[in-house]
Amino acid sequence: NTTLGPALGGTRMWHYAKHEDAVLDVLRLSRGMTFKASIAGLNLGGGKAVIIGDSRTMKNEALLRRFGKFVESLNGKYITAEDVGMSTKDMEQIHTETGHVTGLPEYLGGSGDPSPVTAYGVYMGMKASAKHVYGSDNLNGKKVVVQGAGNVGRYLIQHLVNEGAEVMVADIFEDRLKEVQAVAPQAKVIDPDSVFTQTMDIFAPCALGGILNDHTIPSLTCAIVAGGANNQLQEEGKHGAMLMDRGIAYAPDFLINSGGLINVYGEIVGYNKEVAMKKAEYIYDVTRNIHKESAESLVSSGEVAVRFAQERI
Ligand code: NAD
Repeated sequence: NTTLGPALGGTRMWHYAKHEDAVLDVLRLSRGMTFKASIAGLNLGGGKAVIIGDSRTMKNEALLRRFGKFVESLNGKYITAEDVGMSTKDMEQIHTETGHVTGLPEYLGGSGDPSPVTAYGVYMGMKASAKHVYGSDNLNGKKVVVQGAGNVGRYLIQHLVNEGAEVMVADIFEDRLKEVQAVAPQAKVIDPDSVFTQTMDIFAPCALGGILNDHTIPSLTCAIVAGGANNQLQEEGKHGAMLMDRGIAYAPDFLINSGGLINVYGEIVGYNKEVAMKKAEYIYDVTRNIHKESAESLVSSGEVAVRFAQERI
């Protein structure tokens, strides 16, 4: 969608089993980007690109430059960035063929790693959800389970332990957990299979999508779900409603993880990290409004967020 501006969104390289799987993924992702840009108040449309192939064995300079030529052929209607299977370094190679690239390293005038801004926005969305549920946004003493100790998870955990939350963290890779423990030794490591059944106040999915589904939602003991992962609800309508029926306040993922997009948007309008952080803070107010509207209208928070985004478009 290019109604609000050029469609900005990352490129994902993945070994899709079928052509149709790749098309479905890119459409789901670009739809999410459209809503994310709109609700974050950015003058951007929503787009995403996928390259079919194994990024560990099939990615090379020729492929990336050919892809760069393709992006260039769209004359700026689509602006790319990194996603799964792509790095800042790959953006440099794409950049040799097109200027329509964001997420470049800082030494090339780019905004660098967006994760700290994403994590700060997630933290704001979580605090706003706590205010809605508990009447206070203080997370001191709250039990928070973070699924995924990656870039977003790690920065989020630092905010949480600084505020005195009791953090539990799970990852499938030991080295990622070690990175977290180096900066936040207070966080307790738990088994990845136990994340949905822990006794907790807040669940923060920061790994992959589709994890809120028929199997996991009935086990959750939390009052809030607020995390950075994209497409957390396996089926938007059904699983958003299921969370609501269980009395769990869900902070819409595309809203509270929009800090990363806010950060790369700076590369188009003139980058300033402090401005990006300030804009990410606004996620607090929007999350509050969405929970309020959801409670009054008895429509799930996910649906309310989509409506807010669609109104602006
Ligand atoms: P990342 O790859 O650095 O971290 C993801 C972590 O999740 C990895 O350490 C991985 O081992 C772990 N993981 C995977 N499956 C798991 C499981 N079953 N249980 C526990 N851990 C598991 O990625 P990231 O940049 O931190 O992004 C995390 C999520 O946030 C993704 O869904 C991404 O699309 C989304 N997101 C990221 C940004 C950003 O700025 N990085 C912005 C918006 C959205």
